[in-house]
Amino acid sequence: MSRKIIITIDGWSSCGKSTLAKQLAKSLGYVYVDSGAMYRAITLYFLRNHVDWTDKKEVKKALGEIILDFHFNPKTENSEMYLNDENVEYVIRDLVIAEKVSDVAAIKEVREYAVAQQQNMGKKKGIVMDGRDIGTVVFPKAELKIFMTADNAVRVERRFKELYEKNPNVSIEEVKNNLEMRDYIDSHREVSPLRQAEDAQVLDNTNVSEEQQLKIALEWAMTKIKK
Ligand code: C5P
Repeated sequence: MSRKIIITIDGWSSCGKSTLAKQLAKSLGYVYVDSGAMYRAITLYFLRNHVDWTDKKEVKKALGEIILDFHFNPKTENSEMYLNDENVEYVIRDLVIAEKVSDVAAIKEVREYAVAQQQNMGKKKGIVMDGRDIGTVVFPKAELKIFMTADNAVRVERRFKELYEKNPNVSIEEVKNNLEMRDYIDSHREVSPLRQAEDAQVLDNTNVSEEQQLKIALEWAMTKIKK
């Protein structure tokens, strides 16, 4: 493979961004970074430590106490999120976190903190990062930008299945409301709202299998890598 590029994957909640990003990174021998996990870990810290995130001073102080890291787990073949040396990969997927994460992610100071670290991770290229503002704000010059979308009902069903496996008490209504709320806040916030980059390639995976979407994305990536 000739040159390493940066691949960004943005889109609505539960479109399968991380599934595609992980497979793409594995196929290309690239690093995968789940930027949403960083916002989730920050939210977990804020909730555990009763940080009043409407107070800028408290937010700044709390961010100074947080160290975020990703460690690759060969057993799960996944890069897992660590918050101050604790593996929080599992706990940050909880609906309790999902209910607050979009409010926390809308805070300017939180975004500056996360974006600086994300940009640092991309310095050597050879990276696939998924999120909401990766192609627009974090890596506006990325060689390949993918914007993912899928029908609402399909997204709700996918996320419900995922959460139900961990917690059979979760209802489809709760999941639907959460996705709608996050999409609304993420696309209407003042700082780095979710939007499609002008030069992004759109992938609607409503009726596309995981294998098919990987094939499409790999073709796009190879075109850019060979350039
Ligand atoms: O990707 P995931 O659904 O885990 O992201 C959780 C939340 O983190 C999103 O709903 C959004 O509020 C926030 N996020 C963001 N910018 C990113 C990635 C995630 O604001 N780049």
